[in-house]
Amino acid sequence: MTVRVRFAPSPTGYLHIGSARSALFNWMFARKHGGQFILRLEDTDQKREVAGAHEAVMRDLRWLGLDWDEGPDIGGPVGPYVQSQRAELYREWAGWLVEHGHAYKCFCTPAELEERRRAAVAAKEPFVGYDRRCRLLTAEQIAAFEAEGREYVIRFKAPLEGETVVEDAIRGSITFKNEQIGDMVMLKSDGLPTYHLANVVDDHFMGITHILRADEWISTAPLHMNLYAAFGWEPPVYAHLPLVLNPSGTGKLSKRTQAFDDAGHEVLVKVEEFRDAGFLPVALRNFLANVGWSFGDDREKFTIEEALPRFELQDINPAPSRLPYSKLEWLNGQYIQEMPPEELAQAVRPFLERAGYTVSDEALLAIMPAMSVRLKRLSDAVEFLGFLGADEKQAPLAAGDLVHKKLPHERALAAFREARDFVRETERFDLPTIQEAFYAIGERHAENGKAGPFLGKARLAITRQEVSPPLFESMVALGRERSLARLNDAVALLQS
Ligand code: GLU
Repeated sequence: MTVRVRFAPSPTGYLHIGSARSALFNWMFARKHGGQFILRLEDTDQKREVAGAHEAVMRDLRWLGLDWDEGPDIGGPVGPYVQSQRAELYREWAGWLVEHGHAYKCFCTPAELEERRRAAVAAKEPFVGYDRRCRLLTAEQIAAFEAEGREYVIRFKAPLEGETVVEDAIRGSITFKNEQIGDMVMLKSDGLPTYHLANVVDDHFMGITHILRADEWISTAPLHMNLYAAFGWEPPVYAHLPLVLNPSGTGKLSKRTQAFDDAGHEVLVKVEEFRDAGFLPVALRNFLANVGWSFGDDREKFTIEEALPRFELQDINPAPSRLPYSKLEWLNGQYIQEMPPEELAQAVRPFLERAGYTVSDEALLAIMPAMSVRLKRLSDAVEFLGFLGADEKQAPLAAGDLVHKKLPHERALAAFREARDFVRETERFDLPTIQEAFYAIGERHAENGKAGPFLGKARLAITRQEVSPPLFESMVALGRERSLARLNDAVALLQS
């Protein structure tokens, strides 16, 4: 049997990180078994439709590196892969259910249903959902309603007693009492299907073998099993994935349940937010694979390819899993360190540009080796490399910032003059040459004969930042002309 799995998001306009984890597990399962990963858009709830939503979800999946074998954009043998384009098929199968006695037309109006609900509340009776009265309509009554032109929905006839057992590959057998399931709507009065009908019909006709989806859908599984039985179709294997919790594990992941993560940053929820914050897809994949599943051998950093041979559904932990963002920061930092400097420079460039910095490729490349160990997120580069940006964007300095206990005013002025002259005159403006000269200047002028006080102040004069890359790398990145200009500014400040 060829494994066929699907990721079936409802287009909300963005990809939630919890959904991305579902997509990843489906993708891993398909790749592990040499099967197919299918993307299907479940857009039958037109009220919730958001413009551009299809593109957003595809863009984010692609960015994450989860490619699909069949889908809305590339088609495939069992398409179309957008539910709103399959309405005819759902109508046909809803009709089939009615014809074969598994479903019925319900003419109760929304107003009538609401009235019954209110009456039940007023009488303090438990309201158990639809009271099934149309299930008992005679052929004459139905014909009369239809002659009147009354609108109707199609409801599935749930078994009235007994139990439905769902075999879940992660949770084992789960037993549901049929009396709690209710006669759910399959086809709405506008002729569009509900999620249940469309989902089951599509999974069947798309040849889906395994359903890996979020835990929140578990309550729909018995209804879906009953639908498969009514159709006489073999159900796929179900595997409900554990809920994704916020970093402290106190609630579902959302900015409302927790605003800041365990690393002190704003909690991110959408995949696009992770991308914009400067996380690498490789780090995010690794991180998500650790949510509810683990590689074993106490190993937290691994590539998805390395994980595939070990990935088994029964090893997924059914307990809700929290998202430890600090782990993601750590992983991202590790992957950043492994990037070749050219690639890292390319990756941080958009962040710098967005912040309004114009930095030459050469300068950026020069600083990368010093940078890579310091970045947790690519966006950290904006803060670190702010000194490369336009001069008018730099923080102002005061003369007092350039003096030190061991390097009082006159000494600081002499040291900065000498440093400036060196930069102006030196034949070689490279790291070892600058380093040697600046150490000598620092040692000569400080009261304690140590280079530290001057080097610290020179770094501030060059980078204008408390937190910055090391001095010599920064100077090389900034280039001779701009370094000279900043040392000139320092001298002018100390002279004034
Ligand atoms: N469209 C559903 C969602 O938005 C899919 C649920 C399922 O995978 O069955 O998550």
